[in-house]
Amino acid sequence: MASSYELQCRECGKRYGNAPLSICDECFSPLEVQIDLDAAKKTVTREIIAQGPTNMWRYRALLPVAEKYVPRTPAGWTPLLKAPRLAERIGAKNLYLKNDAVCLPTLSFKDRVVAIALAAAQDFGFDTVGCSSTGNLANAVAAQAARLGLKAYILVPADLEAAKILNTQVYGANLIRIDGNYDHVNRLCSQIADRFRWGFVNVNLRPYYAEGSKTVGYEIAEQLGWRLPDNVVVPMAGGSLITKIRKAFKELVTLGLVEDKPVRFFGAQATGCSPIAKAVKSGVDHIEPQRPSTIARSLAIGNPADGVYAARAIRESGGWAEDVSDVEIVSAIQELAETEGIFTETAGGVTTAVTARLYAHGRIKPDELTVSCITGNGLKTTDVLQGKYEQSQAIRPRLTDFETYINEIKELNELVTGGVDVR
Ligand SMILES: *Cc1c(COP(=O)(O)O)cnc(C)c1O
Ligand SMILES: [Zn+2]
Repeated sequence: MASSYELQCRECGKRYGNAPLSICDECFSPLEVQIDLDAAKKTVTREIIAQGPTNMWRYRALLPVAEKYVPRTPAGWTPLLKAPRLAERIGAKNLYLKNDAVCLPTLSFKDRVVAIALAAAQDFGFDTVGCSSTGNLANAVAAQAARLGLKAYILVPADLEAAKILNTQVYGANLIRIDGNYDHVNRLCSQIADRFRWGFVNVNLRPYYAEGSKTVGYEIAEQLGWRLPDNVVVPMAGGSLITKIRKAFKELVTLGLVEDKPVRFFGAQATGCSPIAKAVKSGVDHIEPQRPSTIARSLAIGNPADGVYAARAIRESGGWAEDVSDVEIVSAIQELAETEGIFTETAGGVTTAVTARLYAHGRIKPDELTVSCITGNGLKTTDVLQGKYEQSQAIRPRLTDFETYINEIKELNELVTGGVDVR
């Protein structure tokens, strides 16, 4: 089923049809895709969605995709899990995790946005695509471009994690390391997009890209049995994801697919790069750019494109934003893994640590239905756990050796726990 959609300026309302554009030429504000919800209302039902594929394309009627487009990258439809063991640790009673650490094909929520951006790229006739990236976007563009037979040029800050660089190059994409931070890389990509006729997923295709994030919101509502949560905790880099989950919920209400109710949005950042959280906390409307310094590289955008809208969405919803230190991020990665068996990357550490703090400070009440968004996979940022786990001496493959080994461990544990064997 096809949707009807076009670009519109967020501030002055000027309409642009459909084109590889992201900024209004009248007022220089960002453009956003408007889906014709009146048309969608006549055809989209819960049943029709449920009959769709078990991936994000089940919401195709609410996404900006050309009628003739045949999707070939089945991203999304990740688990929504109740998290009782983590909940107990942090004083929650009704906590869920949206687990995009296992989003396919490249293990982050960026697979969703890229699926829509590359559909638009093909619709506009681009044979070459690219992006500026803090890592996950690079992986997603590289993999999906390979599958779709598009050429890819990917620009990243030179100091990116080795795993994210390898996970881009393996797909045959051209990876260009830039001596600078993400904001330098992004500015260069804008200039390249103007000069070459290339589709940059987060530059000239950005309005289409951003719509892909809505599928996180649609899935949360559908997986909760077509209802909205009380609270959502979302990590913020450019600030797009949090605003699009909110847009998704509003669309579902407009379409009559869920009952209207207030949902509070909570933003999560690393203290070393927290321009949006800072704006929310200090109650100001503009974003003061920062120079990022944090292990949460995937969130390290010092001058966030959608920062103002993210801060506004949080404030309007009655939510809040918090930021956490690098030490807290690493502990939260370990805590999530130990309690719920989910290994997330640094961004998920940020979300988990912020979620814990929101309960500790009473900003979220224990009984409220809260969804914490885990957006990326820990296998991509193993460097932050370096030195955390000692490798024991190898023992011989004999039962007696094993028994000696176990006794030594027990003695060690007894020392640590003051003589009480906790097992
Ligand atoms: C990009 C990214 C985000 C944040 O997305 P924005 O829409 O830019 O705010 C969150 N988590 C991970 C793992 C990401 O890669
Ligand atoms: Zn405008």
